[in-house]
Amino acid sequence: MKQTKSAAAFAAARKYIPGGVNSPVRSYRNVDAEPPFIAKASGSRICDIDGNEYIDYVLSWGPMLLGHAHPQVVSALAAQAELGTSYGAPTLAETEIARRLQDFFPALEMVRLVSSGTEATMSALRLARGFTGRDKIVKFIGCYHGHSDGLLVKAGSGAATFGVPDSPGIPAEIAADTLTVPYNDLAALERVFAAEGEHIAAVIIEGVAGNMGLVLPQEGYLPALHELCRRHGALLIVDEVMSGFRASRGGAQEVYGIRPDLICLGKVIGGGLPVGAFGGRREVMEHLAPAGPVYQAGTLSGNPLAVRAGLTTLELLRDPAVFAALAAKTERLCRGLEDAAREAGVPVQVHRIGSMFTVFFSAEPVTDYASAARSDLRAFNVYFMTMLENGIYLAPSQFECGFLSTAHSDADIAATLAAARRAFAAATAVQNEKH
Ligand SMILES: *Cc1c(COP(=O)(O)O)cnc(C)c1O
Repeated sequence: MKQTKSAAAFAAARKYIPGGVNSPVRSYRNVDAEPPFIAKASGSRICDIDGNEYIDYVLSWGPMLLGHAHPQVVSALAAQAELGTSYGAPTLAETEIARRLQDFFPALEMVRLVSSGTEATMSALRLARGFTGRDKIVKFIGCYHGHSDGLLVKAGSGAATFGVPDSPGIPAEIAADTLTVPYNDLAALERVFAAEGEHIAAVIIEGVAGNMGLVLPQEGYLPALHELCRRHGALLIVDEVMSGFRASRGGAQEVYGIRPDLICLGKVIGGGLPVGAFGGRREVMEHLAPAGPVYQAGTLSGNPLAVRAGLTTLELLRDPAVFAALAAKTERLCRGLEDAAREAGVPVQVHRIGSMFTVFFSAEPVTDYASAARSDLRAFNVYFMTMLENGIYLAPSQFECGFLSTAHSDADIAATLAAARRAFAAATAVQNEKH
């Protein structure tokens, strides 16, 4: 793998863009490397400007469920571009996607489109506060809900990787309204409600946590959490920006049998274009302007190109068999990774659901952020770099998920497992030299 052009491109980018990237985790800083610059992608493959081709398990951090440049999405985009790319006025396609989303998420009685996941969660919180007349929110340590002020408190992934759970620039009084508890710890949440119950507008949670690496909710946790919210008059907001269409066809809420008050979506629903959405109970959503008093707006909200890419993607995802096939493929990959790690003598926890997975370099069960953070990051880094050198493009952080697409083939999985055997062997070597 040569990276001369990427190295030069990164040096040039750093002159004009802080850190050379437009989103921190892309910089490869925490794996002590420099990122390949991407030239193009198609299906399961992504190619850098040095001519290296990789099997892509990042998939733009989740959105590309159909693989890159799916022909039907590409032609739908081309057709829409001819008709204009933005009007700032209502279109038929917006009602169509709202209706379609309800087929996947029955809890979405009404929906508002935005342009990113960050906007979706930020707006859902404002709505919950406006609806309940309360100010405080509860979030879970290691869950990431985008980078708005009140939510960038003990957030995972980028924030966890860089060790800045609270970013400078967030006023203390805003952070003070965000109460944090460990994921999967119902007793901790009960204590928070006992102390602050009457002030809590909403509890926001990732249906399956994906931003501390993939951590699944324990049996009965989400229903119990929802019951606790109900008892105290707080709304439950399930952030499915990552897990929607990934944990299952209907997200984590379908798997764990809950009907949240509000849901946030993003990533897959835009088919690779910038889209987010939030929605849920009609009586709550009708508090949103112009139907109600809670303000929220966006120049490019419901953008015709983005909605067209989303609608085309949803059309291709109608058949539940798509999701069964994706989950089966992910299971084959994960079982292969477990076998390869065992053969190499590397203790790992391989977590998966639907088309998401994480390999934690840990001998202990991982149930929350604290246990995820005990992973062997040195072993992860060696594994990551060896995979990259062998043509496998993974997220450059232990605290992220891998994703599969409908375009990943059996041959892709076989090639990935062959690379993984080398990568786990390299990881064992660093683990042994440490002792
Ligand atoms: C990615 C993500 C977000 C933020 O979405 P952006 O489009 O990056 O703003 C919010 N919540 C979760 C669970 C996410 O994974």
